[in-house]
Amino acid sequence: MERIDSFRHKGLRNRLVQELKQKRITDIEVLRAIGNVPRHLFIDSSFVKFAYQDKAFPIAAGQTISQPYTVALQSQLLEVEKGEKVLEVGTGSGYQAAVLMEMGVQLFSIERQRELYQRSTRLLKELGYQGRFILGDGYEGLPPSAPFDKIIVTAGAPVIPRNLLIQLKVGGLMVIPLGDQKQILTRITRLDDDEFEQEQIEECAFVPMLNGVVKDL
Ligand code: SAH
Repeated sequence: MERIDSFRHKGLRNRLVQELKQKRITDIEVLRAIGNVPRHLFIDSSFVKFAYQDKAFPIAAGQTISQPYTVALQSQLLEVEKGEKVLEVGTGSGYQAAVLMEMGVQLFSIERQRELYQRSTRLLKELGYQGRFILGDGYEGLPPSAPFDKIIVTAGAPVIPRNLLIQLKVGGLMVIPLGDQKQILTRITRLDDDEFEQEQIEECAFVPMLNGVVKDL
């Protein structure tokens, strides 16, 4: 499939960046990344004309691509530095992954649904992003590649997955939506081996984090 990124798309992205600035996204690297990633390529063709509105949309397998504001806020809260090792739970469309890789991190991203894993891995590779994409259960994290500087969870978790906590470096941050139907976006800092601090940021609504791997629909 041909992947076109036109001047019109770039113009729409610039407008989206201005809108995010007004919504208190201040991290220049986050805004630059959102300005560079062609979000319209991560969205099903029937929604392409809305790609640069600040809205979430359905993707395959009953999942959603997060709203740009949410992607920007989570990325900003992670305070990533170039070269850091970051684990994402819930690759989905791959858009959040692309934004983080644009910011220069070494990304590992886990997705539990094979269909999404295959699509997003293919798209991200075609766009030249080099990350590690894994079909697996994010509740388990990724022990062989741990510990991580940062962990971002992009599905609503009923509780903080313990395996993820222990795969975070001391001094590292995790950003995770906590709760069932609606969640509170929460930032956790690992202060020491067994000392964690929690900050509650704001309400949000993600699809639920579920157990296990789905190979067939
Ligand atoms: N970051 C994505 C958001 C996708 S929605 C984006 O930018 O598009 C959340 C995703 O989390 C869904 O694709 C869902 O299948 C996935 N997910 C839910 N529970 C999971 C788990 N336990 N492990 C890995 N992925 C999970």
